Amino acid sequence: MLVDYHIHPDYSIDAKPHGINAYCRRAVALGLQEICFTPHFEVDPSRRHLDWFVRVEGRITPMDNLYWLNHYFEDIAKAKHKYSPMLKIKAGLEVGYEPGQEEVIKNIINAFPFDFVLGSIHCLEHIAISSQKECQQYFQGKDALEVCDAYYSQLDKAVEKGLFDGIAHLDLYRRYGQMLLGNDIKKCHTKFAEPVLEKMAEKNMALEINTSSRRRGLKQFHPSESLFQMAVKIGIKQFTIGSDAHELLDLGDGITEAKNFLKGYDFKPTTYKLRRAVE
Ligand SMILES: [Zn+2]
Ligand SMILES: [Zn+2]
Repeated sequence: MLVDYHIHPDYSIDAKPHGINAYCRRAVALGLQEICFTPHFEVDPSRRHLDWFVRVEGRITPMDNLYWLNHYFEDIAKAKHKYSPMLKIKAGLEVGYEPGQEEVIKNIINAFPFDFVLGSIHCLEHIAISSQKECQQYFQGKDALEVCDAYYSQLDKAVEKGLFDGIAHLDLYRRYGQMLLGNDIKKCHTKFAEPVLEKMAEKNMALEINTSSRRRGLKQFHPSESLFQMAVKIGIKQFTIGSDAHELLDLGDGITEAKNFLKGYDFKPTTYKLRRAVE
């Protein structure tokens, strides 16, 4: 079964304005059986002016006016009707975790019938390490170990709160860190990742195999194979696969390789319905 569980349709302002229907049509053409949309939801109040926007039918509107989520669920319902039974379509969300904003996150994910909620660390000290432009400001004066330490301590809080079904792009700090901080970034997880992965395993949280790293010139997925092996050894058993598509052309990118990668370790991608893993 081919699935893509990390897709940013037009609601995400950093994505191309390709809508849910267009993604579904392409998913069918690519032979995918199931897809899950995961528009961004960012909660850091100090980044309100930067991140707190969504695009609804071509218009940029404030993210904290939750009417867009009604629109999103209507879009999903229409697509389900149109593409059933060829394609299973799930409504997800990618939450950019920020410590202290747990109540805000909880309220949103409980207010709507999401199938799958991904948690991500996009920002450290309110600076986006996911952004090529911003990350240089954060990395300046720090070495790989310091960046890793800060990243995993923030992730630990995200996991601890039990708000998310899965964690996206686990070693996102490699995206630009590999180029800007040198090769130490590849192995610094050995010092910090273990306790976080143990908590994920206890909570039966999923670890995402995110293929977007390949489109940015990295050879391995997020997480790297050695980090993935660490997760397996610790006992993580749920894995999702996501292209992190921000345009139609990204949809399904690398997911066959990711599926084969999981198969090599005797795992299959997990799918979700109403926030429960589907057996
Ligand atoms: Zn992300
Ligand atoms: Zn994403």
